Amino acid sequence: MGKTIGIIGGGQLGMMLAEEIRALGGRTVCLDPSPDAPAFAVADERVVGAFDDEQALERLCAAADTVTYEFENVPGSLLRRLESRYDIPQGIRPLLDSQDRLREKNNARDHGLRTPRYAAADDEASLREAIRRIGFPAVLKTRTLGYDGHGQAVLRGEADVPGALPLLAVPCILEEFVPFDYEASVVLVGDERGIVRFPVGRNIHRDGILDLSIVPPDADRQVIGEMVARSEAFMRGCGYRGILAIEYFVRDGAFYFNEMAPRPHNSGHYTIEGCTTNQFRELARYLLGQPLEEPRLLGPTVMKNVLGRDLEAARQLAAEGLPGVHVHLYGKREARPLRKMGHVTFTDTTAEAYAERWASRFVR
Ligand code: AMP
Repeated sequence: MGKTIGIIGGGQLGMMLAEEIRALGGRTVCLDPSPDAPAFAVADERVVGAFDDEQALERLCAAADTVTYEFENVPGSLLRRLESRYDIPQGIRPLLDSQDRLREKNNARDHGLRTPRYAAADDEASLREAIRRIGFPAVLKTRTLGYDGHGQAVLRGEADVPGALPLLAVPCILEEFVPFDYEASVVLVGDERGIVRFPVGRNIHRDGILDLSIVPPDADRQVIGEMVARSEAFMRGCGYRGILAIEYFVRDGAFYFNEMAPRPHNSGHYTIEGCTTNQFRELARYLLGQPLEEPRLLGPTVMKNVLGRDLEAARQLAAEGLPGVHVHLYGKREARPLRKMGHVTFTDTTAEAYAERWASRFVR
């Protein structure tokens, strides 16, 4: 019987990972609080329980040979107890390092990556001090539990400060606002024995949520090359294993670390059809102890995220079944306007071709 991989988290990332593990001969057991989590449709076994339910986490780990995570906010104290007793090859450190934006940025800077200027803001007085040092415009973010632009406020000037003060109910970080030329992300899989690197895309966000990934990015190749090399050195320097995604802001040929995630990344979904191998498969190989494969881009590719508001358009595209249009729907029951419900990958499609042929199909 194949190895059983335990996945903490049953969202779309867990679902796509479970599909690849199965294709490579492995089994999966997933933990998620929601009984109809997407990954449960694919997993061999399911554990329904909260991410801070120690017994549920124990059950997941006990049912698995090797454990990974796709959900980032499992309480650190619980993870530490699990790490000593179960095989979690990625370890819990990258997870802990990414759970707190202040720790995450300190760690990035300490390991050689340039970040936007930042300062802790724990209360109004320290926010004032941070504004004095960083100036306007700036972005105030909660240190923990933020995602997709939640828990953030852009401060363009003094007038925006009072409205942002409620964020200070929890510890925050103030960052310099980077008027970036574009955003890009790097996805790496491996460890000290070798790392494979996925081709970098240009990411376009809307409402703080990834909207499009465009690959190749139509950017200075030297900058992208350096970004990948620095990311790899960072991963090695930190001793991280498994998968690591890093998001950057690029401005005037310089790149600034924004955040990282030790799990498959939304900007890497294009790899499923756009590359010779994908981020989920390489992570699956890593977890199953199989040799990794260096990915190669097959051709220009555009990935469009499908939020609730785009669901009808995506269903229509799926029904049309056109070549080069790959519709992924995650099977989530409740469609909220800004909830990620799926994605569509357009292969053999440049940014211009996407704008001309496909953009008008989605809500603008
Ligand atoms: P985050 O959750 O930190 O990735 O932020 C979500 C999005 O908000 C990013 O992808 C950017 O588009 C924007 N953003 C966040 N921080 C900054 C910043 N310091 N400067 C400019 N834009 C930002």
